[in-house]
Amino acid sequence: MRQRHKPWADDYLNEHDHIVLPNPQQYKGKWSAFFGNDRPIHVEIGTGKGQFVSGMAKQHPDINFIGIELSKSVIVNAVEKVLASGQKNVVLLNENAENLTELFSASEISTIYLNFSDPWPKNRHEKRRLTYYTFLERYESCLNQTGELVLKTDNRSLFEYSVVSFSQFGMTLQEVNVDLHAIEDEFNIMTEYEEKFSAKGQPIYRCRAVFHQDSN
Ligand code: SAM
Repeated sequence: MRQRHKPWADDYLNEHDHIVLPNPQQYKGKWSAFFGNDRPIHVEIGTGKGQFVSGMAKQHPDINFIGIELSKSVIVNAVEKVLASGQKNVVLLNENAENLTELFSASEISTIYLNFSDPWPKNRHEKRRLTYYTFLERYESCLNQTGELVLKTDNRSLFEYSVVSFSQFGMTLQEVNVDLHAIEDEFNIMTEYEEKFSAKGQPIYRCRAVFHQDSN
C-alpha cells in the first residue's frame, strides 16, 4: 500500500493513544485485563485503513479486536474508522508483525486474520511473506489450542504459496475457497483492497487453517 508520507501522523497518533496504544509490549499476557473481560481476542495483521477490523468489532461486540499495522501513514486512516465506529472492543498497534511474540503470550489469541497481505512475488523476498514458515511459528505460539488463521487475498500466487506453506507446516486446512464472493456470506466484512479488486471482477480467495488437528 503506497501512501504519501504524512508528517503530522506522529502527533495524530499521540492524540489518539487510547486507540493506537503506545508501548503495547506492556500488555503481553494481560490483554484480557486491558479489555476488562475474558472475551476472545482476534488479531488482524496488516490492518491497512481499518475497514475490516472496525467492521468486525461492530459485527462482533463479544470479541476483542486488535489491528496491527506497520505504516504510520496508513494507520491514521484506521484510527478514523475506529473513531467513526464508536466501538470500544477494538484497538490498533503501530507495530511490525515480526514482533508478534513480544506483544502476545502463548495461547493469548483466538484468531489471526491476514487480509490482502503484500504478495512479495520475487523468490528472494519469500521471507517477507506473512505466510512464510517463520511467521507461522510466531502465529502458532500466540494462538490458543483451537485458534485459527484466516487468509483472504486476490493474489492467486500468494494464495497457492500459502496453502502449500500451511500444509508443509503441518496445519490442517478447514476451508479453501477460490471465489468467496460467489457464495452468499452475509458475515463477510470486506477490506478496502477486497472492495477494490472485487469491483474489477477479480475472484477473492479465502482459506482457514488450524495448527492442531483437534481444533474445530
Ligand atoms: N488489509 C488491508 C486491506 O485488505 O485493505 C491492507 C492491505 S495492504 C496490501 C497490506 C498492509 O499490510 C499494508 O498497510 C502494510 O503496511 C501492512 N504490513 C505489511 N507487512 C506488515 C508487517 N510485517 N506488520 C504489520 N503490517 C504489515
